[in-house]
Amino acid sequence: MGPQRDRYDVVVVGAGAFGLASAYHLIRSHPELSILVVEARSRPGEGSMGASAAMVRDVFSSPDNHLLAKNAIGFYRRMMEEHERLRGPSPLLDLYGYLWLLPEAQMNRFAAILAREAGSIEAETLDLEQLHSCPGLEASPKRWYEGDDARPPEPIVGGVFGRTCGAVAPELLADFYWKHAMAAGVEFRFDSVVQRLSFEGREDILLHEPSKRPFAFQEHMTGRLRISRVHLGDGRSIAADRVIVAAGAWSERLLHPLGVATACSPRPELLFAVSGPVIDELLAWQPPVHPIDAPGGRSRLPFVILPTGATLKPLFRERHIWLGLESGVLAPIGTREDPARDGRLDYSSARMGDREALATDVLPAITPYLPRFETNGVRLENSWGGYYSFSPEGSPVIVEEPYGLIFVGGDSGSGVMKADSLGRLVVAKFDGARTARLYSGEEYPVDRLSLTHRSVEEETLII
Ligand SMILES: Cc1cc2nc3c(=O)[nH]c(=O)nc-3n(C[C@H](O)[C@H](O)[C@H](O)COP(=O)(O)OP(=O)(O)OC[C@H]3O[C@@H](n4cnc5c(N)ncnc54)[C@H](O)[C@@H]3O)c2cc1C
Repeated sequence: MGPQRDRYDVVVVGAGAFGLASAYHLIRSHPELSILVVEARSRPGEGSMGASAAMVRDVFSSPDNHLLAKNAIGFYRRMMEEHERLRGPSPLLDLYGYLWLLPEAQMNRFAAILAREAGSIEAETLDLEQLHSCPGLEASPKRWYEGDDARPPEPIVGGVFGRTCGAVAPELLADFYWKHAMAAGVEFRFDSVVQRLSFEGREDILLHEPSKRPFAFQEHMTGRLRISRVHLGDGRSIAADRVIVAAGAWSERLLHPLGVATACSPRPELLFAVSGPVIDELLAWQPPVHPIDAPGGRSRLPFVILPTGATLKPLFRERHIWLGLESGVLAPIGTREDPARDGRLDYSSARMGDREALATDVLPAITPYLPRFETNGVRLENSWGGYYSFSPEGSPVIVEEPYGLIFVGGDSGSGVMKADSLGRLVVAKFDGARTARLYSGEEYPVDRLSLTHRSVEEETLII
């Protein structure tokens, strides 16, 4: 269905984690607004949100990330209590925990983080003795891979178990925001790509021809220069008073032509679903920890992070483990797709899943600690990919331009778990408020995530 009108108070570009939470909170604060969300895919949450490992945690080195995630998780938990369909058959949240397996230096770093947060992060520390029951774990690796004589990766000396951590169901979260926003009056237009944003359609501003770029001096005519038009891939356009760009990794494609910098770098990230006897063995492990969600009072395999950064996510029902490895600096920056040029978003998470990379890139970061993964005990079931959009220090970014444009992004690989907090921050920006009220009631200064008054610490726990 096309847009109901040809003019909206607000157009949100992107129905991913950030766009959905923004639309939801905006209509709750301002029921009088006409809001349209334009999404390239045919459903909400099918960009990087749908490709994600779908994990949540409140364990971060940056106090800002901790606060944003802890509050969003608190809200998701509350929504589960209020809405039966978020509790089953598969729940919105399953807090079975994160387990970091750590070398000595990292153990000390974690101790410092936990001490600083003074009880705000719920965590248990495990010594090597307690990790002995983990099937196939080699705490002191002998080598990286066969034929390699270099120093082996560092030995594990212990672990940290985060309790307010676990899995989220992104499709339930996307559905929740979508349906509630829609019920409150937000319109959604799917299968529709925003190709360009422009200042056209304002009679009182002067534009260069044929580029339609505004004459530069008008930037200083307070209030005159306003974003005004959202151009769709099918050639149609919609007038808007304010535009919120929440287009994830593809945001720069719309913003750079307007001269708006985001300081964010999108990079591809892959996941691999594996099964087999080695996987079954790990899935049956009951570690000596006390998770928040423990069916029958039993602990289960947590989300495991190895010292190399490789991760293992348990899928108990499917008897799969999802393997991942944050590829950080080695992955090329940028998206393959350019909706601003092509007028369509040719993104396929399945096509991004490079099956070869399991053997070449990921398994060598796992097998030093779990040598049984080397043998034919592991079968590749599926692989897919999406993007992390990295900000310079690993916290989200909110940029506001005085001509009615807000950008929210820079998820740095942990946007699903912070989305609700970001939605609230976008509303505060929209209102011109200095602080946003997070789920817990705590006030958060919105400018801390801006680029001009940015004040966040480097995040060292990017997974
Ligand atoms: C492999 C992988 C693992 C991850 N693991 C986790 C995890 O465990 N936990 C976590 O919290 N996060 C994780 N993430 C990160 C998470 O996916 C992102 O933080 C989150 O999706 C960011 O939300 P977003 O709204 O900015 O972007 P997206 O979710 O990508 O949403 C952007 C939306 O905009 C749409 N769009 C883009 N351009 C246009 C356009 N021009 N016109 C119309 N629509 C457009 C897209 O189709 C998309 O739906 C992971 C990501 C990947 C790739």
